[in-house]
Amino acid sequence: MARYTGPACKLCRRENEKLFLKGERCYSAKCAFEKRAYAPGDHGKTGSSRGGGERVSDYSRQLRAKQRVRRTYSVFERQFRRIFAIAEKKPGITGVNLLQILEARLDNVVFRLGYADSRAHARQMVAHGHFLVNGIRSDIPSIILKPGDQIILREESRKKTMFQDLATYAEKRNCALWLDRDLKTLSGRVLRLPERTEIDGNITEQLIVEFYSR
Ligand code: SF4
Repeated sequence: MARYTGPACKLCRRENEKLFLKGERCYSAKCAFEKRAYAPGDHGKTGSSRGGGERVSDYSRQLRAKQRVRRTYSVFERQFRRIFAIAEKKPGITGVNLLQILEARLDNVVFRLGYADSRAHARQMVAHGHFLVNGIRSDIPSIILKPGDQIILREESRKKTMFQDLATYAEKRNCALWLDRDLKTLSGRVLRLPERTEIDGNITEQLIVEFYSR
């Protein structure tokens, strides 16, 4: 299955909420959801399939909960299912395990360290091979990191114009508490997996568990 390459903002409108897929733009007046908070094709609030008091089935709620998270982390359905299967096998609460695995993806860690303003941007940085993971060049955004793993911007990449101001840029952005960031070396380390309360967004993981348990 090909990655969705259409307008990211359409996904927010489809899910009827902001998924923050485009970095700075999402916090500006240019955000498409701020201007048109209705689904593509609905042409305004009247007659909206999500607006008007229609009964929503359990299946629909579960599906939307799953799609929202899948789209937020930009993961293929097949990958998402695989991650869910891993989460199910791990001890603990499946829904929380699922979110922790998604958070530990390399692209998400780059984003959470503040080196990119969106997961899409972080994925691009990783895919272009700009980072070393534990000293080895890695261009696979879906790698799952574990506590103790370290990432660092490659020496060669640091010389590129596009990364000259990365430390200044990242300094203005928060670093997740479960990560350790060193702006001098443009690196980061996974200290631990995030607690559920440290994972933001409108996520109802129980509905995702119910979706896959049907
Ligand atoms: Fe969604 Fe961001 Fe586009 Fe707004 S700007 S609709 S939050 S992707």
